[in-house]
Amino acid sequence: MLSDRSVAIIGGGPAGLMAAEVLAQGLVHVNLYDAMPSVGRKLLRAGKGGLNLTYSEPYETFLTRYGARRAQIKPLLDAFGPEDLISWVHGLGIDTFVGTSGRLFPTDMKSTPLLRAWLQRLRNAGVNFHMRHVWRGWDNGGELCFETPQGVLTAQPDAVVLALGGGSWARLGSNGAWVPLLRQRGIPVAELRPSNCGFDVAWSGHFRTRFAGHPLKSAAVVFIDSEGNEYSRQGEFVITENGVEGSLIYALSAALRDEISKKGIAVIHLDLAPDKGLQRLIGELSRPRGSRSMAKHLRSRAGIEGVKAGLLRELVPPENFVDSARLGAAIKSLPVRLIAPRPLDEAISSAGGVAFEALDERLMVRSMPGVFCSGEMLDWEAPTGGYLLTACFSSGRAAGLGALAWLKTRV
Ligand SMILES: Cc1cc2nc3c(=O)[nH]c(=O)nc-3n(C[C@H](O)[C@H](O)[C@H](O)COP(=O)(O)OP(=O)(O)OC[C@H]3O[C@@H](n4cnc5c(N)ncnc54)[C@H](O)[C@@H]3O)c2cc1C
Repeated sequence: MLSDRSVAIIGGGPAGLMAAEVLAQGLVHVNLYDAMPSVGRKLLRAGKGGLNLTYSEPYETFLTRYGARRAQIKPLLDAFGPEDLISWVHGLGIDTFVGTSGRLFPTDMKSTPLLRAWLQRLRNAGVNFHMRHVWRGWDNGGELCFETPQGVLTAQPDAVVLALGGGSWARLGSNGAWVPLLRQRGIPVAELRPSNCGFDVAWSGHFRTRFAGHPLKSAAVVFIDSEGNEYSRQGEFVITENGVEGSLIYALSAALRDEISKKGIAVIHLDLAPDKGLQRLIGELSRPRGSRSMAKHLRSRAGIEGVKAGLLRELVPPENFVDSARLGAAIKSLPVRLIAPRPLDEAISSAGGVAFEALDERLMVRSMPGVFCSGEMLDWEAPTGGYLLTACFSSGRAAGLGALAWLKTRV
């Protein structure tokens, strides 16, 4: 009988809630604990900029987004992939649409209706929610310890699903405080590092004051790492007080972060006029400028103005402005030196986490039978575009089903 079994889920983000759903469907008694006053805070925050649930593209391409962890994520997505996620969202009464970029969103772009409908369904299925329960690890008797407003409470469920998230945006609940708790138990955990993050650039005071907050629309970035691997993307990013951030930068952030950790620096090359070829650009810039200022000449001949012109002034020696070939080359391939990733807390997500090698195919910790791990706390990373949430949902489901299967072997 599974109905006299109890499972503790710690962490009420997308992964933990999905584990709760499959366990409650399996008629197990489910207690979900979270440190915060309410669950799903990061999911709600994600909805503020438009909740990008998944990405519409061929499955093989989708899998490539998980890079070095593709082999470990594939079985999870084979069991519950982008199409399954879309059907599941529709099952909650939420319509979706695919944006021009291929990103898939709820029709109203928000998380609130989805989370509200989901929590209602989980409560109806009998899931018990315990808020303001901060998990502090296991006591000497192997019981789970929680710090609560009522003092320290303990629990001894038949199985545990950990879904504690990564280490970014700690104010939303996932603060990575679980890392030493698992390491003390001998579970290998790769250091949490920023992923989908901005980078520091040593801007001059003038440039920073004038252009922080300005978006660069339609630019392309090329990055070649020290091993000769080339990454290139076109899109948008934003100049910040400290450097650069935004979707174009996030897309390359794993490679940039790793290069900085190896070499101390990563140099990207910006194409400020991606729609113009170099020769055509040089031809335009070579036309006589007469009495017009260089700013007007750049605007009318190359379409370079505002923050793009500011970047050229910031990074190109003055003498190159009078040489059309050099100026054209700088516009098409402007080197920008990135000196550090922004701190983990500012990143959209974390790299690092519980090593897959420590887990079996059900996501159970090999050295701690009955303890399962899921979501962003696992050691994988992916770009923005819905890939993060898709893998969190599917790994939460896999851990929940894994716990069910394991409990069945022990009935
Ligand atoms: C600003 C922003 C926008 C984003 N937008 C998108 C997007 O559009 N699309 C996308 O795919 N991804 C997006 N993401 C990423 C996505 O939200 C996360 O990858 C996802 O929420 C991770 O799910 P999770 O269940 O693993 O962890 P989380 O959602 O982080 O949940 C972990 C839970 O564990 C709880 N917890 C942690 N430690 C303890 C403890 N010791 N005791 C008890 N409880 C604890 C936390 O309170 C939290 O509720 C965004 C992230 C951010 C920050």
